[in-house]
Amino acid sequence: MKVYLSRPDINEDDINAVVEVLKSPNLSFGPKIPEFEEKLAKYIGRKYAVAVNSGTSGLFMCLKALGIGKGDEVITTPFTFIASTTSILMVDAKPVFVDIDPVSLNIDPKKIEAKINAKTKAILPVAVFGNPTGLDEVWKIAQKHNLPVIEDSCEALGSELGGKKVGNFGTLSNFAFYPNKQMTTGEGGMILTDDENLADICKSFRNQGRGKGGGWLAHERLGYNFRISDINAALGISQLARIEQFIGKRQKVAEMYQQMLADEARIIVPRSPDKCRVSWFVFVVRLKEPYISKRDAILNAMLAEGIQVSNYFPPVTLQPFMVEQFGYKDGDFPISDSVCKSTIALPFYNNLTKDDAALVCKTLKKCLDKTI
Ligand SMILES: *Cc1c(COP(=O)(O)O)cnc(C)c1O
Repeated sequence: MKVYLSRPDINEDDINAVVEVLKSPNLSFGPKIPEFEEKLAKYIGRKYAVAVNSGTSGLFMCLKALGIGKGDEVITTPFTFIASTTSILMVDAKPVFVDIDPVSLNIDPKKIEAKINAKTKAILPVAVFGNPTGLDEVWKIAQKHNLPVIEDSCEALGSELGGKKVGNFGTLSNFAFYPNKQMTTGEGGMILTDDENLADICKSFRNQGRGKGGGWLAHERLGYNFRISDINAALGISQLARIEQFIGKRQKVAEMYQQMLADEARIIVPRSPDKCRVSWFVFVVRLKEPYISKRDAILNAMLAEGIQVSNYFPPVTLQPFMVEQFGYKDGDFPISDSVCKSTIALPFYNNLTKDDAALVCKTLKKCLDKTI
């Protein structure tokens, strides 16, 4: 590969922070976990934080903590990473999909109320690609119907909507720190809430069902091991200290692409929406007709040229196990299904250079020329 899809941004401070933990006796459940939790809660502006071993286990625990299970429905989006949906299936609840807004690519708030019924127990919106558009409207609808919101903001750390940070639009909100996210802990996630009781239940689930102040071998409820280690948490603290710098670097890369692709009429280039600060997760362009049917050929041509691109996202509803369980077919969610066919995620990370971006754009144009 000449240009990778994603790269973490690790410096000497990060390495030293990890090594410091390795020299301590507390490789897990030491002082770095509460420090990471406090710092992230403060950055987002919420009362309680629970650090976990992945974004997926965080979403699962949020649903569990709200008592959602068999026979319950959770309203969500079909245009997302698979974990938004699998977390709902993991608690035996049913995901109920609402099609997306064609501009923001997030769940369309206007279409939510039609899907609310007596079985609906929560709404799980996603700030896709870092775009927080609509989270405020989802929150309002949920308030009106007395439903909790589980905010999947695993792609949107640092984004803001109407001056408010993402992570403040859910009863429980989630971030994730896999190496392709805005900041990384290797593997990891964080649940945020203002509800002390929910935070305590999540902490108990995380740690084998142990209770507050109880003994190591006292288990109050069915729990799990979803602990993050002190090693990962130390990396998180060190990365979080540079989060604003990271977001600034990503904004610059997004602007480079926007400038270089400004005259490219064959694609739709993402823009920062109104009222928002986008903390860019990925940079996804969309093909226009007549190029859409050639998307996979264009992806392969770019890969062959050493440019690592991807098809974020294929529809959740059309994954084989979803089709088998629910019988969804192409076109059930017309906007999401058609957007999914047109996307190309370009290489995108903090330290992508102007030369890299120029090569990506030149190769994209060349592959478009070759196709038709
Ligand atoms: C990354 C991500 C997650 C969580 O992923 P993990 O790999 O489990 O940390 C959840 N939802 C979305 C939308 C994501 O992009």
